[in-house]
Amino acid sequence: MSQSTLEDLGARTPRAGQFGRDALVVCDNLVRIYRSGPVEVQALQGLDLLVDEGEMVAVVGASGSGKSTLLHVLSGIDQPTAGRVRVGPWDLMGMSRAERVAYRRTMVGFVWQQAAQNLVPYLSGTQNVLLPLAFAGAGRRERRARAEEVLRLVGVRHCADRLPRQMSGGEQQRVAIAVALANSPRVLLADEPTGELDTTTSQEVFDALRTANREAGVTVVVVTHDSAVSEQVARTVAIRDGRTSTEVLRVAEGHEDGAPVVAQEYAVMDRAGRVQVPREYREALALTHRVRLALEADHVSLWPSGRAGRHGDRAEP
Ligand code: ADP
Ligand code: MG
Repeated sequence: MSQSTLEDLGARTPRAGQFGRDALVVCDNLVRIYRSGPVEVQALQGLDLLVDEGEMVAVVGASGSGKSTLLHVLSGIDQPTAGRVRVGPWDLMGMSRAERVAYRRTMVGFVWQQAAQNLVPYLSGTQNVLLPLAFAGAGRRERRARAEEVLRLVGVRHCADRLPRQMSGGEQQRVAIAVALANSPRVLLADEPTGELDTTTSQEVFDALRTANREAGVTVVVVTHDSAVSEQVARTVAIRDGRTSTEVLRVAEGHEDGAPVVAQEYAVMDRAGRVQVPREYREALALTHRVRLALEADHVSLWPSGRAGRHGDRAEP
């Protein structure tokens, strides 16, 4: 093999230390174990996730699959037991307490499920947005202008002088998004922000997240079990038992506007090359324990053990 071919290969094959080098968010083999007495819960069991700058990603999964744990880690309020996690230039494993505070103030914004948890009840919409701005050290007039700007961006300028209890659930969550956006974070994390809302209101909150993504350029990671929401983002990552299991990518089928969007489901391969075969597939072909793999020109075939491929060793047409 010529030297240049080897170099080409090298350039295309990420080395261990470079996993996700160009991604904004890198979760590399994340493990989070909760211990209470003799009981041990593995909330994350080697989770890999890469998110590029500017992406909007939905995270779905059954209750207890580790979604909130993942968001707590990314928001800097929890530390994984093992693995590597980086957001932009921040290595979240090795941060001091002061760095953690700075990270949370400048790099990420978050919105939690309970609207009441996101806002200070005795402060108006504007005052809630001004709160994080006060820490950032901008001038008074500048802060006011910024507060108005973000409230307007997410469509709740009319809530500027209202207290949270004078707002609907959806308005509260949109003000919460404005609060999260105040200091221009690069990443917005939202954990089931529409969990307590009806469908119409959920859509408004989701639209606000999308506006933040498209117009403010914020990278958004939103946990949801609302399929209406996850169907509207280009990429949905499913978590099962503390690991990313499948991804659905939605792409326009043609180049013209209004081309139908098709969803394609992918299994996620981890860095060791492991892929989880969906249960339906395993059951349909009685795949257990050992399977036979064959490398074909442009795909890999997989058969139950003890049985040769139905078409011999040739690729299917
Ligand atoms: P999800 O948000 O997907 O419903 P979580 O991340 O909240 O899941 O929880 C994942 C697992 O970790 C669950 O089994 C849950 O019971 C457990 N867990 C979460 N937080 C704690 C905690 N503070 N102490 C002990 N176990 C926890
Ligand atoms: Mg949760």
